[in-house]
Amino acid sequence: MALLDEQKRLNILKDLIEIKSVNDHEKEVATYLQKLLAKYDIKSDIKEVRGDRANLVAEIGSGKPVLGISGHMDVVSAGNSDDWNTDPFKMTEKDGQLFGRGITDMKSGLTALIITMIELHHQNLPKSGTIRLMATMGEEVGEEGSSYLLKDGYMKDVDGLVIAEPSGYNIGYGEKGSMDIKFISKGKASHSSMPENGFNAIDALMGLLLDANKIFRDDKISQKTMGPLIFNTTLIKGGTQVNSIPDYAEAEVNARTIPEYDNDKIISELNNLMNKYNNQGAKISTDIYMNESPVLMNADNYLVKAIKTLMEPYATDDIQIGPISPVTDASNLVQGKPQDFPFIIAGPGNDTPHQVNESLDKQMFLDFIDIYQKLFIEFLEK
Ligand SMILES: [Zn+2]
Repeated sequence: MALLDEQKRLNILKDLIEIKSVNDHEKEVATYLQKLLAKYDIKSDIKEVRGDRANLVAEIGSGKPVLGISGHMDVVSAGNSDDWNTDPFKMTEKDGQLFGRGITDMKSGLTALIITMIELHHQNLPKSGTIRLMATMGEEVGEEGSSYLLKDGYMKDVDGLVIAEPSGYNIGYGEKGSMDIKFISKGKASHSSMPENGFNAIDALMGLLLDANKIFRDDKISQKTMGPLIFNTTLIKGGTQVNSIPDYAEAEVNARTIPEYDNDKIISELNNLMNKYNNQGAKISTDIYMNESPVLMNADNYLVKAIKTLMEPYATDDIQIGPISPVTDASNLVQGKPQDFPFIIAGPGNDTPHQVNESLDKQMFLDFIDIYQKLFIEFLEK
């Protein structure tokens, strides 16, 4: 008999949806979870970051092996709540579907991990090994929280990692990296009738960005399962008035990197381009303000194989196994782990994250609690 019945499980999820942890206030989520875990005799630590922001770490079992399980506590903004059919911060159920901000990405995954820990601990499981929950802050803006957990050594002894990001009945074992880069180009202003007296900051920056497009959008730069390197200028501004040579321009770029063409390679190529233009009189500098590495573990690692078998009875379609598009906390957490490190991204969810009327099939949320319970024990007692 399960300790928490379906209604209790849904109530926990409902409570989490009501906490407006929009890129802030993760400490309120952490405090709620700490109280809940304590009620079932599971100790946890709130790791303060600043203000109302914190990570949460909790363990059951003891010794080796150690299975890391992780989910983020923040959500993205609901956007204009008038565009929603329901209040985004009240979980609403209709025809077996649940609605609310974060229901897919990823308060359902996080809740499923928490309930799994409570249920296992109640059965005195695991008999050997440790399950370590790492609930993170700031995932949606640069995976900040997981970088502190990595730095503080929480991954050092971890032998396998489950990220409960929304995959539905599919399995991820890799993800592209992501970089946000700002370019600043300084020139010299002059009257537009006498450009020889100035230096056009827009020209130099435009030249660099077009060169970069040519280099990074080469069809040959692609990974078999992940697809191509992606490079886009997404913001640009410069100049002050139409009849002045501009002395300032700036642009921001987002790149999605692959193991064959990683973040360091992008940086070194951009440095070459900057040198080229700066040697011709430009003054271009960069600020790389987000820098998350790509992750690609073996497609046949232990966790992929084990969860595939467990997922099969629940899956409504063929189970897709491959890298996923978005960046997750894995880009920090698996740093330094070998290629054969057991690693999956698998959690309840669909293709509505960050959207209006974000939804989730209720049964899928409940199914994942069963899948996780079996998977975690199988991994630790194998
Ligand atoms: Zn997410």
